[in-house]
Amino acid sequence: MSKTKYIFVTGGVTSSLGKGIIAASLAKLLQAQDIKVTIQKFDPYINVDPGTLNPYEHGECFVTNDGAETDLDLGHYERFLNVNTSQANNVTTGRVYQSVIEKERKGEFLGKTVQVIPHITNEIKERMCLLGESGNYDIVITEIGGTVGDIESLPYIESVRQMIWDLGRENALVIHLTLIPFLAATGELKTKPTQHSVKTLMESGISADIIVCRTEHELTEDLREKLALFCNVKREAVIQSIDVDTIYDVPLKMSEEGLNRVVLEKLNLKPKQALNLDNWNVFLTRFKNPKYKIKIGLVGKYVELQDSYKSILESLIHAGAENETEVQVISLHSEHLNNENVQESLKFINGLIVAPGFGERGIEGKITAIKYARENKIPFFGICLGMQMAVIEYARNQVGLFDANSTEMSPNCKIPVIDLMESQKKIIKKGGTMRLGAWDCDLTENTHAAEAYSMKSISERHRHRYEFNNDYLDKIFDENFIVAGTNPDTGLVEIIEYKNHPWFVGVQFHPEYKSTVSTPHPLFKSFVKASLAKK
Ligand code: GLN
Repeated sequence: MSKTKYIFVTGGVTSSLGKGIIAASLAKLLQAQDIKVTIQKFDPYINVDPGTLNPYEHGECFVTNDGAETDLDLGHYERFLNVNTSQANNVTTGRVYQSVIEKERKGEFLGKTVQVIPHITNEIKERMCLLGESGNYDIVITEIGGTVGDIESLPYIESVRQMIWDLGRENALVIHLTLIPFLAATGELKTKPTQHSVKTLMESGISADIIVCRTEHELTEDLREKLALFCNVKREAVIQSIDVDTIYDVPLKMSEEGLNRVVLEKLNLKPKQALNLDNWNVFLTRFKNPKYKIKIGLVGKYVELQDSYKSILESLIHAGAENETEVQVISLHSEHLNNENVQESLKFINGLIVAPGFGERGIEGKITAIKYARENKIPFFGICLGMQMAVIEYARNQVGLFDANSTEMSPNCKIPVIDLMESQKKIIKKGGTMRLGAWDCDLTENTHAAEAYSMKSISERHRHRYEFNNDYLDKIFDENFIVAGTNPDTGLVEIIEYKNHPWFVGVQFHPEYKSTVSTPHPLFKSFVKASLAKK
């Protein structure tokens, strides 16, 4: 076993308590004490990865540099820590079983009966240790998705039990995140659900070392002592996680509660430097004290669910803080936008984003919104599908190619300005087969993109099957509508810009996956700045 120490984060009482934010906040504090740390997430569902999931199910699918389609919590990890995650940072039950079944088919189990214990748990444990074995980390934080007591998370809980046994208690600890509900009728905070969920964990042979309690109200000293007594942890290991206005406050709250101190003591580690959150605090101060305010319209078809566009919303927060501007996002459902209501819907906004997406639903609404932004000189940022729709809008309304479309929406359309990538044409399977992860892009001089990045060549993350059809290069692009970025190897159009406009940029990639607190994304910064100027 390596010298790396392990922290497991489990959840109890209900889902959606924010294990990812607690894990990311703890990692941030450890990083700010110069401890090398990474986070991984194990999800109990049977999908091999979340790439095939509808955003309504688990929110956005986050994409890493190496092309993994992952849970959105990995986005939080990257945004908090400013380090890249990878395929190894997100594992699902589907992935685990797929691998074990492949090994069985190869005959690797030598005639043994393949079982949950030990074969599935061994596979889980191997994957839990993978990042630690690289020798790059002092601590690996492993978040276990779901809630303790769920049937589907049992193999993970059992693997954690075995890991603690293998590693020894001084090298591994368990943080259990629970909810302390407030009963308005009696005005009381209740600890019983937490007691029960700690007990459920114990039934699986795991005792929690630290309890992090989500609560709407301050926990009294008495209540903390009661929790410590009933949950079998030290008083200092009862950590309050009170509701805050922004997730970016959570690291500070956890530091006040001493979460990082308790963790390091339990793991017998010393901080390598005094806690340094200077940059984080600079960001928070800017974010909380904006001088200006803008309204950005976000057009998409999943706008009912905030988590669907998580990375875009967070990127706007980072870019807003950088511009000392509060960015108010107005969600606009693409299905509800049309020629009759577009002016009414968009007249108050200072900038427009058309979101990524798949399939036909809401497409015409997106095109209508883009036309309005182009003609009314409202800063426009089209991301992936948003860029493709900007091309179609220009082809139809400026070039006069009325039948222009994408073969995704209209497979037999007469003018397929957006078409399936050559490399995609023979692909039948849907999972993990898109153009994924980081690809290079050469920027055209004298464009908003080149100015924003201050670089000639960039690398951005992708997740798409369709692209601009280069057969139409000469027909569509002119002195006003230009290609502002191209992939050097394939010649694929990566960025388009409309010149006769304050800021009109469409990108085939997903800049939102690379914006972090310490490094807001250049295009989002530039877009927010342009929207502010428009105001
Ligand atoms: N559906 C489009 C494609 O596959 C766009 C994908 C996206 O917006 N991520 O090319």
